[in-house]
Amino acid sequence: MHEKILAPSIFAYDNCYIGDGLKVIEASGATWVHVDAMDGTFVPTIALGQGVVSALRKRTKLFLDVHLMVQTPGNLIESFAAAGADMLTFHCESASAIEETLQMVKNFGLSAGLALNPRTAIHSVEKYLDCMDAVLVMGVEPGKCRQKFLPSTCEKVRTLASLREKRGLAYKISVDGGINAETLPLAAKAGADIFVTGSAFFSNAEQLGEFFSC
Ligand code: ZN
Repeated sequence: MHEKILAPSIFAYDNCYIGDGLKVIEASGATWVHVDAMDGTFVPTIALGQGVVSALRKRTKLFLDVHLMVQTPGNLIESFAAAGADMLTFHCESASAIEETLQMVKNFGLSAGLALNPRTAIHSVEKYLDCMDAVLVMGVEPGKCRQKFLPSTCEKVRTLASLREKRGLAYKISVDGGINAETLPLAAKAGADIFVTGSAFFSNAEQLGEFFSC
């Protein structure tokens, strides 16, 4: 049985008061903070760069799970590592070479994750599963808050969980987008371990925290 981890996404909190959002996460008992870094090219939005990661690092010991929604993650690994990220997850749809970028993340002593968009098949990440710490399945199109969880996400999670067992691997399976009190148990049942949650967490942290209290 894999440990279940709640990873609240700080981007969903009022960006004027990110420090307050961090306090809400710490008070909830969550041990991870998910940071959505966006470059305005891979996704239309620009948000949360190395400066925010570094500011969070100075104020918390929580695990900083940085999700790079950027076109060329390979160019940014060093600076995000220096800013204090604990895990760097980038997209298999990005322009950087996957194997080299995963290795680069590991060379900095960080956990390495690979993400896939709703329209990307498992096949695109399959051959890298033995060299990553986590695979992140997008439950919505990346880059925007408050979208509905796509039901096909659970099918992907099930396939990844069964591949993990078949191959005796240890990667974690993360779900990101549209996670709330209704969809979290579905993703958990399918085999997910990490639950990235944004607006649903900040509007009702207690309700989501219940899933992790035992
Ligand atoms: Zn994310």
